Amino acid sequence: MAKDFLKDARDEYDVIVIGSGLAGLTAANLLARQGYSVLLLEHHYQLGGMATWFRRRGGHIFDISLHGFPHGMIKSCRRYWSREIADSIVPLKGIRFENPQFSVRTTFDRKDFTRILTEQFGIAPATVEEFFDTARGMNFYDDQTTTTRQLFDRFFPGRDDVVRLLMEPITYANGSTLDDPAITYGIVFSNFMSKGVYTFEGGTDALVGKMKKELLASGVDLRIRTLVERIEVDSDRQVRGVVVNGRRIGCRAVVSNANLKSTILSLVGPEHFDRDFVEDTRAVRLNSSSCQVYIALKPGLGFSEDVGDLLFHSEHSGFDIDAMLSMDVSSRTFSFYYPRTRPGSDRWLIVSSTNARYRDWADLPESEYRQAKHHLEQTTLDCLEQYVPDIREKLDHIEASTPRTFERYTRHIAGASFGTKFEGLKVSQTLPKQIGGLFHAGSVGIIMSGWLGAVNYGVIVSNEVDKLLSSPSPV
Ligand SMILES: Cc1cc2nc3c(=O)[nH]c(=O)nc-3n(C[C@H](O)[C@H](O)[C@H](O)COP(=O)(O)OP(=O)(O)OC[C@H]3O[C@@H](n4cnc5c(N)ncnc54)[C@H](O)[C@@H]3O)c2cc1C
Repeated sequence: MAKDFLKDARDEYDVIVIGSGLAGLTAANLLARQGYSVLLLEHHYQLGGMATWFRRRGGHIFDISLHGFPHGMIKSCRRYWSREIADSIVPLKGIRFENPQFSVRTTFDRKDFTRILTEQFGIAPATVEEFFDTARGMNFYDDQTTTTRQLFDRFFPGRDDVVRLLMEPITYANGSTLDDPAITYGIVFSNFMSKGVYTFEGGTDALVGKMKKELLASGVDLRIRTLVERIEVDSDRQVRGVVVNGRRIGCRAVVSNANLKSTILSLVGPEHFDRDFVEDTRAVRLNSSSCQVYIALKPGLGFSEDVGDLLFHSEHSGFDIDAMLSMDVSSRTFSFYYPRTRPGSDRWLIVSSTNARYRDWADLPESEYRQAKHHLEQTTLDCLEQYVPDIREKLDHIEASTPRTFERYTRHIAGASFGTKFEGLKVSQTLPKQIGGLFHAGSVGIIMSGWLGAVNYGVIVSNEVDKLLSSPSPV
């Protein structure tokens, strides 16, 4: 008989959280700490969503999205998770850019970028300072019509080398382009520039393991391999429960960490919303997806520290989003993982990430799909040889993931790696006005994506849920 992953689950909870991405986990933890009964449902066999890892023969452990996040993660983890988690967050100092226009090594913070922009790129110090101040001063309530392209044109006209330095890492971090609102760039870029790039020592498995411990201590009922099929809404547009693995479970509020569009259009269904809201939802553009190549070296063999931690490599001239998304890959971000990533280990690993379009991969017949993955692996090794010359001799394991992989494991439409474009944020935020007790917390609107954005959005939404549940019910 199939295992019942909902064995002993109650018939009713205060809150049901759908999905265990960082936003879902954070919302579940905070609500349970406030005394609400919380059921967390995750369709995958592992918690974490895209903050995940996998193991391969020979004891290799690959991280999928542990490439770097801003310093703000320390404060958020200390406040909303635990000191132990916050204390494992450490800086990554070796950020590199190698492309036909420049070669740069940086700690990726304002001070160092000011040095590079003035000394290497010859930009006037006053312009650099004004640019940083403008970016840092941006917030959600600012003008949303100015694009990032217009922002750069204002400060660095005709300088596609400068645009590339400033934009390329952010595109890798959240898929944004020059046509997205400048505020999304300003907020995310300034978050990184405040103190550089950070990582979690111990790996994603250690982070999610510690989070799981906290969730259990807070009293969250955690269930993996539980696929929510439907969110139940009554005729008064009030959320009543969910159907999961064929069973109905009631609740007072639902926090969906699933993809925004699938939450509204599939899990609830358009018939339950105002027509305008459905149109707005349909118009929300998904963000791009990713390909990755995971490379493990034989145990004990490594590469020089000189290669750095994060390397933005490109063979293309100028910042070109079409080239960055193309299957004919010319831009890669290499994350170099040293044994210190998991203290005590003897493993050096490399993950190459590339922004990608779902539609390029979606319909390939199986044999072509396998060939395309193989081609991606081999061309990645070819490229890597210039930084780790003996990589092919040292290689122990290699495999690739594509937008199809992300779609399969996270159920995000089109394997979107970074949620939605900016307009998704408004739809996510106004969802509870459409259906009482229904909330969305997860990567949306560019600014609420990435590890830090997802954790912080989980906090914001848990406050909203608390406000609703703690207010006296109408008589
Ligand atoms: C290749 C790649 C590299 C990245 N690198 C970085 C990085 O270096 N730094 C950084 O800050 N960010 C990075 N990100 C982005 C970051 O990982 C995500 O923005 C963040 O983890 C998303 O969290 P989330 O809360 O939005 O939920 P997600 O991680 O999207 O999780 C949603 C969860 O909901 C579950 N779910 C969906 N539907 C259902 C259902 N019906 N029933 C039950 N469960 C369901 C899914 O299985 C999933 O676990 C990267 C992303 C990718 C793909």
